[in-house]
Amino acid sequence: MTSILITGIAELVTNDPERESGLLGVIGDAAVVVEGDRIAWVGTLNTAPDADRRQDLGGRALLPGFVDSHSHLVFAGDRSAEFAARMAGVPYDGGGIAVSVEATRAASDDELRLLVSARIREMRRQGTTTVEIKSGYGLTVADEARALRLAGEFTSETTFLGAHVVPPEARRDRAAYVDLVCGEMLAACAPLARWIDVFCEPRSPHAFTGEESRRILAAGRDAGLELRVHAGQLGVGPGVQLAVELGAASVDHCTHLTSQDIDALAGSPTVATLLPGVEFSTRSRYPDARALIDAGVRGALASDCNPGTCYSSSIPFVIALAVREMGMTPDEAVHAATAGSAAALRRTDIGVVRVGARADLTVLEAPSHLHLPYRPGVPIASALDLTALP
Ligand SMILES: [Zn+2]
Repeated sequence: MTSILITGIAELVTNDPERESGLLGVIGDAAVVVEGDRIAWVGTLNTAPDADRRQDLGGRALLPGFVDSHSHLVFAGDRSAEFAARMAGVPYDGGGIAVSVEATRAASDDELRLLVSARIREMRRQGTTTVEIKSGYGLTVADEARALRLAGEFTSETTFLGAHVVPPEARRDRAAYVDLVCGEMLAACAPLARWIDVFCEPRSPHAFTGEESRRILAAGRDAGLELRVHAGQLGVGPGVQLAVELGAASVDHCTHLTSQDIDALAGSPTVATLLPGVEFSTRSRYPDARALIDAGVRGALASDCNPGTCYSSSIPFVIALAVREMGMTPDEAVHAATAGSAAALRRTDIGVVRVGARADLTVLEAPSHLHLPYRPGVPIASALDLTALP
């Protein structure tokens, strides 16, 4: 197996707690050896071993690749007019999802595959090396299974979200739709997914109540899936405590929380994943990241890239928002978008640069990770493509 020695790393973010150099485990003037798809050595340049090949990054910063633990990439159609209407004052209640459902059902497999592939390329160009992809714009047995099959062509982190909203044709009989999700749809989708998720939001007439969510998550767990929950996006609700009680890996949004929700999260391994691109794109109040961090809650940042509430796939943008709008330090935000979101996927082989971890790396056109929030909107981050190295 060919080994590659990467040099010219002005700053290496390792996220390795054994390094004892701050939250990010930073190493200055660093080197990394990669063998195949794994990290084989990490340290300072003056102690680096030899390798078959060398690649000089010329004084750039190198980080663990961004882990986007929350996205909805399998969709067709265009909802830019809905965004414009929202900016003119129309409130968001989850109803626009039906527009994407109609367009997604009408698209061919090849059309959807091209759309997902383009979105993943867009993510890699901005430094994302792992992405979780949810279904949720099919909402029939066949369309949900198709979305997961397509998502599985691009990632192992596939999430069954048949409980995204109650589709328009099922509104007169919500209970029958929940039965379908827990029955035939789950049976078809469980073999194609690692995770099950539910949009638990009693304030949206389209999403699911606490009791409906509990039934759906329990059925998913019985079918062998691990749990994630959308909760607290539009208002406080039962979703956060349900996620903690059922042992979900992550509860996502957490924009509206009670102090009991924060206490429950602080005493649990469930990660609170914040998605500030949504608050930006819906012009809403941001989550109180400081309160969560100060309470000792494990936190993550992700994009929630989706056609309705945040059509941005940019983790650098999310990091900038987290620092500028949510009071996170640059170190906390970078950690949350790498190690934090890896924990939200229960992964220990990504979000960290240490021996044995995956060689998923992101390089900055800058000497330090501080430039991510310092230079918002500037395309300085990209996934390091080792196969393209000379
Ligand atoms: Zn979402």
